[in-house]
Amino acid sequence: MKAIVIRKHGGPEALEAAELANPEPGLGEVLLRVRACALNHLDIWVRDGIPAYKIPLPHILGCDAAGEVAALGPGVSGLKKGQRVAVAPGRSCGVCDACLEGADNRCPRYGIIGAQGGPGGYAQYLVVPERHALPMPDSMTYEEGAAYPLTFLTVWHMLMTLGRCGPGQTVLVLGAGSGVGVAAIQLAKLAGAKVIAASTSREKLEKARGLGADEVIHSPPEDIARRCFKLTGGALIDIAVEHVGPAVFDAALKSLKPGGRLVTCGSTTGPEVNLDMRYVFSRQLQILGSKMGTAREMRTVSRLVGEGRLKPVVDRTFPLAEARQAHEYLAERRQFGKVVLAI
Ligand code: ZN
Repeated sequence: MKAIVIRKHGGPEALEAAELANPEPGLGEVLLRVRACALNHLDIWVRDGIPAYKIPLPHILGCDAAGEVAALGPGVSGLKKGQRVAVAPGRSCGVCDACLEGADNRCPRYGIIGAQGGPGGYAQYLVVPERHALPMPDSMTYEEGAAYPLTFLTVWHMLMTLGRCGPGQTVLVLGAGSGVGVAAIQLAKLAGAKVIAASTSREKLEKARGLGADEVIHSPPEDIARRCFKLTGGALIDIAVEHVGPAVFDAALKSLKPGGRLVTCGSTTGPEVNLDMRYVFSRQLQILGSKMGTAREMRTVSRLVGEGRLKPVVDRTFPLAEARQAHEYLAERRQFGKVVLAI
């Protein structure tokens, strides 16, 4: 099969075309003919080689795949050859206390395909456990199928489970044009919340309005905390959906009302932030770290996407052979929604 591999860590030039043997499905697994694989910032971190993701090389990146079932391993009964599916990206042991509790994203052996959870979707074929295959309706393209699992799952866990989002609340979405941002705008609206979207790009903010954002903040130059104060009549916000890091963290924290929650799943502008403790204790704020979501949450998200109530947003598609250009494009942060490889 054709694949893009990394043989050593490095920049986009580390992505190499390769011809590999097709993987074989084992017990309870299916072989997927991958048709699309969406990019995530995680791909860049794994490619660069950050310490949290020690993986054996060579390695195939790609956490968000969709395709059709090409072959069934022994014991598979719920899927048919030719069936169109997206792939739940999380892998867990299934036997530890966290897994048995249904909190599989807290499993000590938790991994994500394309990262520390095995090979990913930058390839023509991928083996997937049957229970990780998420059936797709015929109306959904493979690109859309690949564009939702990781980000929509992540945002569900952030916003609904940890953030306790509900009707009448106000949600601030930082980095509104990212995969997480477009999922957060839609999910907060679905939950009945008011959405304030913030981005450095006016163009992305217009698109954010198109997805349902009630108010937008163009920052910089606008001051996020001041604008949140004004847009809420001084009430401030209930939940900040954060994944940008030092560029916005302080402003997001200061935008929260007493009892507000800042939920973070990433830090794309750097690893360290300033924390003004006075806001944390005097306003009784909660800062909640979030990673992926549970298998049960994945199923809920898949159903809502299948029903068209949440819409994957594809910014641009590149052929697999242009994975390097796709990585360069993602690093420029010009996209609105997901960058996808067609395979
Ligand atoms: Zn476990």
